[in-house]
Amino acid sequence: MADQDPVNPSHATFDLFIQAQTCKDVKNHFAELCKQLNIDPKDFRTFYPKLKERLNYWKAKALWTKLDKRASHQDYQQGKACTKNKCLVLGAGPCGLRTAIELSLLGAQVVVLEKRDSFSRNNVLHLWPFTIYDLRGLGAKKFYGKFCTGSLDHISIRQLQLILLKVSLLLGVEVHTGVEFQGLVEPSGDNGWMAKLQPTSHPAAAFQFDVFISAGGGRFVPDGFKHKELRGKLAIGITANFINRNTAAEAQVAEISGVARIYNQKFFQELLTETGIDLENIVYYKDDTHYFVMTAKKKSLLKKGVIKQDYSDAEELLAPANVDYEALCHYAHDAAYFSTGGKLPDLEFAQNYAGQRDVAMFDFTCMHRAENASLVRERRGKKLLMGLVGDCLVEPFWPLGTGIARGFLAAFDTAWMVRSWGMGVAHLKVLAERESIYQLLSQTTPENTSKNYGAYSINPKTRYQRVNLSAIHPNQVSAIILYLLNRDLNHRSTFDPSERSGFEELLKWCQRHTAGYKNVNVTDLTQSWKSGLALCALIHHFRPQLIDMSGLEESNTIHNNQLAFSILERELGIPPVMSAIDLANSGQIDKLSMVFYLTQVQNAFTAPAK
Ligand code: FAD
Repeated sequence: MADQDPVNPSHATFDLFIQAQTCKDVKNHFAELCKQLNIDPKDFRTFYPKLKERLNYWKAKALWTKLDKRASHQDYQQGKACTKNKCLVLGAGPCGLRTAIELSLLGAQVVVLEKRDSFSRNNVLHLWPFTIYDLRGLGAKKFYGKFCTGSLDHISIRQLQLILLKVSLLLGVEVHTGVEFQGLVEPSGDNGWMAKLQPTSHPAAAFQFDVFISAGGGRFVPDGFKHKELRGKLAIGITANFINRNTAAEAQVAEISGVARIYNQKFFQELLTETGIDLENIVYYKDDTHYFVMTAKKKSLLKKGVIKQDYSDAEELLAPANVDYEALCHYAHDAAYFSTGGKLPDLEFAQNYAGQRDVAMFDFTCMHRAENASLVRERRGKKLLMGLVGDCLVEPFWPLGTGIARGFLAAFDTAWMVRSWGMGVAHLKVLAERESIYQLLSQTTPENTSKNYGAYSINPKTRYQRVNLSAIHPNQVSAIILYLLNRDLNHRSTFDPSERSGFEELLKWCQRHTAGYKNVNVTDLTQSWKSGLALCALIHHFRPQLIDMSGLEESNTIHNNQLAFSILERELGIPPVMSAIDLANSGQIDKLSMVFYLTQVQNAFTAPAK
């Protein structure tokens, strides 16, 4: 039979492509495969059908079945929802690639830019059940046989990137590595939106697009977006990777899926007594490497000479010049050795991208979160839809393993936004919907998202248990967008200036309905809400039977906020946008979140009775 022909060179190349373990090998084998089958990978629209037709190989067929199943979902409208759209995705991290796959299934032309030319991150990501299900559906097991076998629920970052890169290429996504995005180039003459790249002569610099997705990781913020800082108490994370020789003895050693100090005082006390290492928590995953991530106490790092000098500023404290690399290696090694009961006796560090021992120390004290997830810019009549996904949207706290889960949720939400854009939905509505969904992201947990993983799609309603896609009035959304544009871009916006009054109207409505309450003086949409009394007053004004104002103290801020949040959630179905503790303790209340929340309160109280 032709499809079992062992000498067919394209079959052998396909096998090499599937098994490739470096970014370079994946790209080389893919190019070779395209050559052998005489298919132009740039011909994105017909690439995948041609590949299926010409590569008549049983191993490939099992993969096509999986990809076809995903592609046949009604959301993609047979790959025609976004045929007119051209999307530039910045960053080939897991979230950029996952977004690119969805955009290509929608029928868009997709180009991904990645500044690195290798995937070298050994660190291991915790996967929520839905991400495992999702990746299996994309054929993860075909590319990586060990993928989440048994009860395993993690994968190294590089292995995940490799899987997603292969799927992207098969679906016709153009992925360029070794090219750095340096900014957007505004339309001029007949040209639309383009990107400034390094090297400048890179062919992707000529690509014109109407959708720009930034998945540049950590602190990469494109123009027009603003990050806010969430500052917690000092948290110093250490990651370390050791070579996994895959011996029977290593296989026996139990993983530690998260031991926090509060749950195992004895273990941490013994660790401290025997080694002088003082940790808040530790996680150990056995993957391509033996991977450890731990949160260490500053005092013990100073005592063990890992940190040379004490500074109150976390950046100064962890600056490379203030860290003794050798001592850090010893610290991480000893913590790993002790926590695995000495059962990993030959702990030898794996190498990082720079060929050094793979150990790193990070500051988790300050996390970033984008204020908005989407924007539309317009120049010379050419609109550009912009979206953020992954770590550059919400920076995760790694020990909680939220990075990939929330990253993938945002990738799907973003694809949903691009779908609406492609289908001609008014752009304010597109943005309104995206921002409404974004407000839910930071609260998502495996428990409060749908358990019906098989039904997950880019439609947010299949994933979030409670999502109101039109939670806020269009004029208020436009006010938010306008506010952001005016503040951050400092250019004339194309929105109707009359929409500027959205915030003022909301403020006036709040003032009207909280007037006369003791210790309540609403003058803005941020600080005036800190004590929680204004929210309680609003509830009391509309539903006096729900709350007893006489029992509330102005100083009891957390209680007041928690009470109001609970009533609004229970009685009106409005989920809180932040925790009561955050609202009460936050030095700077996030205006966008409060506007979003209060608008829902306003809508609920002013909705006509059913
Ligand atoms: P990333 O994975 O960070 O990908 C962003 C990509 O964009 C990168 O490949 C980067 O090279 C590229 N890029 C950035 N700027 C440009 C530009 N201007 N032009 C072109 N390309 C650009 N999570 C855990 O759960 N556990 C861990 O131990 C852990 N360790 C980490 C270690 C490091 C060094 C980093 C950076 C992240 C780590 N994370 C860890 C976070 C985790 O990697 C992310 O949550 C996850 O990879 C999803 O990220 P992403 O795709 O949004 O961004």
